[in-house]
Amino acid sequence: MQGIYWVVRGVPLKPKSIHPAEFLLRIFLLYRILSVLCVMSGIIIAIDGFSSTGKSTLAKQLAKRLGYVYIDSGAMYRAITLYFIRNNFDWKQDAEVGDALQNIELFFGPEGIYLNGECVEQAIRTLEVSSLVSEISTLEQVRRFAVAKKQKMGLKKGLVMDGRDI
Ligand code: C5P
Repeated sequence: MQGIYWVVRGVPLKPKSIHPAEFLLRIFLLYRILSVLCVMSGIIIAIDGFSSTGKSTLAKQLAKRLGYVYIDSGAMYRAITLYFIRNNFDWKQDAEVGDALQNIELFFGPEGIYLNGECVEQAIRTLEVSSLVSEISTLEQVRRFAVAKKQKMGLKKGLVMDGRDI
């Protein structure tokens, strides 16, 4: 294959000829090396983009492939909303929001999100939570809380998350 040039101090050397099969093999090896490095180094991968473009599907598959934890930002806001609903906190009162957030512990396990030790992956997908989550997620205290949690989770590395909050 013509067209691959090695340049030393700006002077192109003779085109190096590579058989297409060898070229593909090199790309494959590079891909394998990068995959292994990714798994070993435990980096944070943040996926951003427009809504409904498959970010979370990609993030989930990537996390599974690399053996990383998938951080679902939407699930965090949903779990916070669920806590407000279950404990009758009034999210329109700043002081109540602050009190509620102090009692919320979130983490991600293989089955999804845990709220104060309980897996709430199903409970956060109800219509009641869905209809309130966008309002709750715009509260400044809630956003600060969620971003701080994500940044703390990010310290452990080996994460795939959707959204740019990190
Ligand atoms: O993705 P999902 O529908 O579970 O997200 C639930 C809600 O969480 C969204 O409607 C949005 O209000 C909020 N959200 C957010 N920032 C993100 C992800 C989700 O405010 N990065």
